[in-house]
Amino acid sequence: MKTFNRLPFSYDPNQSFFEQLNEWIGDVFYDILPEAGLELRDEQIFMAFQMEKAFIEKKIMFAEAGVGTGKTIVYLLYALCYARFMRKPAIIACADESLIEQLVKKDGDIAKLSRLLNLSIDARLAKSKDQYLCLQKLDLERSHGQYDEQYDEIYQGLPAFVNANQTMQTFHHYGDRKEYPDLNDEAWNKIGWDNFQDCFVCDKRHRCGQTLSREYYRQSTDLIICSHDFYMEHVWTYESRKREGQLPLLPEASTVIFDEGHLLEVAAQKALTYKWRHDVLEDLLTRLLENDVREEFAVLVEDLISQSMHVARVIGQHAKTVEGSDRKEIEMSKPLLSEVERLVALIAKLEDEMVFESEMYTIDAYQLKIVEEHLDMIHHALNIFVKQQNVISWVQEDEHGVTLVIMPRLVEEVLRERVFSKKLPFIFSSATLSTNASFQYIADSLGIEDYLSFSVESPFDYKEQMELFAPVLSKEQTFTDKLNHVKSLLKETDGKALLLFTSDQEIVTFKKVVEQDEELQKWSMHFEGDKEISQLISSFQTDIDSVLCATSLWEGLDIPGESLSNVIMWSLPYPPKDPVFNAKRKAAENPFWEVDVPYMLLRLRQGIGRLIRTHEDKGIVTILDEHLYDNEVLLSAFEAVLPKEVQMQNQKRDRLTQ
Ligand code: SF4
Repeated sequence: MKTFNRLPFSYDPNQSFFEQLNEWIGDVFYDILPEAGLELRDEQIFMAFQMEKAFIEKKIMFAEAGVGTGKTIVYLLYALCYARFMRKPAIIACADESLIEQLVKKDGDIAKLSRLLNLSIDARLAKSKDQYLCLQKLDLERSHGQYDEQYDEIYQGLPAFVNANQTMQTFHHYGDRKEYPDLNDEAWNKIGWDNFQDCFVCDKRHRCGQTLSREYYRQSTDLIICSHDFYMEHVWTYESRKREGQLPLLPEASTVIFDEGHLLEVAAQKALTYKWRHDVLEDLLTRLLENDVREEFAVLVEDLISQSMHVARVIGQHAKTVEGSDRKEIEMSKPLLSEVERLVALIAKLEDEMVFESEMYTIDAYQLKIVEEHLDMIHHALNIFVKQQNVISWVQEDEHGVTLVIMPRLVEEVLRERVFSKKLPFIFSSATLSTNASFQYIADSLGIEDYLSFSVESPFDYKEQMELFAPVLSKEQTFTDKLNHVKSLLKETDGKALLLFTSDQEIVTFKKVVEQDEELQKWSMHFEGDKEISQLISSFQTDIDSVLCATSLWEGLDIPGESLSNVIMWSLPYPPKDPVFNAKRKAAENPFWEVDVPYMLLRLRQGIGRLIRTHEDKGIVTILDEHLYDNEVLLSAFEAVLPKEVQMQNQKRDRLTQ
């Protein structure tokens, strides 16, 4: 039985809950926190009383607040009290897995609130499946002739109940990516869950850490913290899980907070993305043939398998490599589409035949249901691929062969229907939600019609705390010029820098240079992908003079203090030239100004925001881009998003290199 935590203030059920909450929130910001040594921030108090409206009216709110306003503390207080009042946990969805860890870390905002208000907060993480070890993949990896010894260590470190017959009471979740911090991403990918693992039919599911983790976080009484991706997966799988007699991924919530809410649309697209691979379909259908099926049914299954193999080959032939991306563009052609159409027709035929087959009771009903569910998804995805309506598709290739990825171009309709039609307080929190002082763009892209909103500026004195440097670079010797700037800048702050790259290719090239360059080796360099991400961030934070090189930390990273005194952007963060953005560009009248520039400016603002996290922080932000000064209009757009009163210097290089 669940036990519910009590409200942190004495509550009289005969009086309005919100009036009492309002009074307590006032006490917290005017008395309790200042008495505990925290400064009283006007922005925070303004936000708190604005946010109250969303909870009273159960409405959607865009809460835009600059860096340092303490917005997390505000939404946590409301989420916590409302969860306790409603007796349903609040869901806090962060942009990615590293950000969910930051919220619950030892000196994070939840721990801070808990300490200052003397509250015990039940906050549990609902991590994405790919953050868990897959026992099937571990077995498979260890069954190969030669494999890395580290997998034996992982196997031996599994809890005793995994491979022994122990009672249910002893089960607990395990196998979190974080438990294997030294495994790099490549080694982890060989044993971590991926899209092609079929947990529904897995014989290890009742002892698997990934499935056991669900039991744990579902019991949370206060907060469940997950990523946007996970929340969206919950939304899209809600109905199908119910049909299969399973619980939804997340329990019913009292409220949903989207931290870094400007990134939700991408997560929604990602969750609605379907991946098709021949061997997975073959595996699924071959299982059917193990039953006592009719001969014509078996022939149809075999036809379908052979057409699927043919389609995979044809798709592979039509896939064109895109520089700097692992997503290959598909060259559409009539023969390709007609082969996929033939596959779709065969799937439809098999679905019909399965209805007949089910009446014969020769196939296990549960197995049949699972296959039906999968076929239905494949049918739907390939159908929209053939019609090429409102869809973006590309190909990825690895040792398993060709994967066709099909993603919807627009998600607003589905979001409107399945998420924002619910009468719940939904809070979007971010420093970058509006465009030209309006929230309409984000509201439209998410299918939101009615909303509340406010904006609060950052309280930091950027003029005093930040230097902004954007040197004019050589067009002929760009790489060398950038590298020299990086070296000078690292000397200036003796490491303590975050180096942001825009693609894997950029970071890999830089890493190779570091391996050969003694001057750069003076500082300890942490590269994204070398370790589990939260461990990597923590090593960077504690190793004060080190350098963190990353592609995905343009947003969300919160490292106050000396360790991060220098943010260097290797290039302006334009979106990649991959099929997803190419499709957006094709649909725009002026792709550069409608797709590339808005994306770049938003990411740039986020990148700059990594430097100053407290009133005490000081440092340099440098943008290295050889084309920045080519276009006057672009330069003005760029200057318009810089923190107020910060002068952009383009000559500082001379001083630094002296
Ligand atoms: S339940 Fe899923 S993640 Fe766990 S072992 Fe089975 S296939 Fe892998």
